[in-house]
Amino acid sequence: MRGTVVKLDRGYPLVRSEDGVECRCEHATSLVKGARVRATTGDVVEFSMPAGHDKGVIEKVLPRRNAFVRKDPAERSIPQVLAANFDTVMVAEPLQGISIRRLERELVLAYKSDAQVIVLLTKADLIEDETELAEVRGLVERVAQGTDVLVISANDPASVEAVRAKVPEGTVAILLGKSGVGKSSLVNLLVGSEVQATGSIRERDGRGRHTTVSREMVEIPGGGCVVDMPGIRGLALWDADEGIGAAFSDVEELAESCKFRDCRHENEPGCAVRAAIKAGTLAPERLESYRRLKDETEHLRKRDEEAQ
Ligand code: GDP
Ligand code: ZN
Repeated sequence: MRGTVVKLDRGYPLVRSEDGVECRCEHATSLVKGARVRATTGDVVEFSMPAGHDKGVIEKVLPRRNAFVRKDPAERSIPQVLAANFDTVMVAEPLQGISIRRLERELVLAYKSDAQVIVLLTKADLIEDETELAEVRGLVERVAQGTDVLVISANDPASVEAVRAKVPEGTVAILLGKSGVGKSSLVNLLVGSEVQATGSIRERDGRGRHTTVSREMVEIPGGGCVVDMPGIRGLALWDADEGIGAAFSDVEELAESCKFRDCRHENEPGCAVRAAIKAGTLAPERLESYRRLKDETEHLRKRDEEAQ
């Protein structure tokens, strides 16, 4: 049988078959031992239901269209795939207390996956001053470079509808953002009360508080699916050159006009990037951020090479 992993249930993939039946599964030994593939949220798998067995058995994880991968900078461990086969990455940042640096990092990770990227600025109701809102929005739009930016609030149904429209039927969106930014509130609003009432998206955690289960693929009525991702603090920018290229296409496009192919945009003659900064068409912070993130990936790459 074929199905989709909708979440990990205490470590076991919960697989929803094509006819809508959900089944807790374990991996066939060959899968785990050989290629060390472990199914994750969004994976399409082939599974069987051996007689007399309380769980299904995942025989095969089909090739992934894309994957959101976590690699802890402090660990040498193999990368962990947090989600697979998604169409859209929604990056949530709070309007109040927004961190542009965190947003840049989140965008790099989002672009790495080759999916459609959308920025959500949350808790708009907390900013009363229109000018302040417009300023933050402008700043974010410069960083987002043409990527859609939606300003949302849990108290504004129209803004939630705008998000819903971005997740049409048959598509999967993953939701990134630090803890407390309003991800679970948004998921609950998108999904509506019917699902909440069945308790399928809310569970009690150890402290007795209601929280959305992390990385569960949840169906939006009349729409696609959304996966709430855990806070991404500590996610290394591993293998992120393409993501950086996409998130900083302004810098990279300018760099193509630099006189030297390997221009560091420091004191080289004919540097188009520095010229743009001087002319005021590129904010100096853009180059700073670009450098910082590039250095970080480079550092991790060297460390990995040395470890091999
Ligand atoms: P998560 O950790 O990203 O899932 O964030 P939550 O959805 O749990 O929200 C964290 C807190 O912010 C909760 O107390 C929410 O009630 C509150 N919150 C969420 N969205 C909004 C919003 O649009 N406006 C305001 N004022 N508070 C919000
Ligand atoms: Zn240059």
